[in-house]
Amino acid sequence: MTKLPKICRYCQQAAKLLNIGDAGYPYRLDYGPTWTCVPCQAWVGCHKGTKNALGGLANAELRIAKQAAHAAFDPLWQAKIRKEGCSKNKARNAGYAWLATQLGIPVERTHIGYMNLEECRKVAEICGSYSKNQKAHSKVSECSLKCAVKLAEWTGLEPATPGVTGRSQKPITAREVAILDIPKSPITT
Ligand SMILES: [Zn+2]
Repeated sequence: MTKLPKICRYCQQAAKLLNIGDAGYPYRLDYGPTWTCVPCQAWVGCHKGTKNALGGLANAELRIAKQAAHAAFDPLWQAKIRKEGCSKNKARNAGYAWLATQLGIPVERTHIGYMNLEECRKVAEICGSYSKNQKAHSKVSECSLKCAVKLAEWTGLEPATPGVTGRSQKPITAREVAILDIPKSPITT
């Protein structure tokens, strides 16, 4: 099946599917095919083994915002893994379900890979305040912040936005919101 080309959100032109070695491929290492708009310097990776984009094309500003969103969000579900020993997917999906309620948008649309600048900044704000609170209450979250930095660095030279480079994610189920054992709003002291 041939997927329709991704449209660049900045210039509305069709993105090109580029592979390592192609002119304009955004990474020096091989992170699989990327839908890329070379003039806009915007791109997004694909689900592993497919040509299906992980999200919307992102330029440098949005990629940084996505990294900040992940740096704030990821420690929450990573702490859940340590706390409950659940799988990465389960913890992350539960985190996204929780995030959907915080943002007031449908869980199906709640994925940092598809968010715009404003949404990414909201994620960083919401999760950042919670992370600080957790840090004050738990040594575990201090570790999880370090882990999040490693996560953000693990894919490369352009620092690696999870959701921009290729890793697959399962759909989020609403019931998993109950799994994430964190309050609906940050605890203030
Ligand atoms: Zn473009």
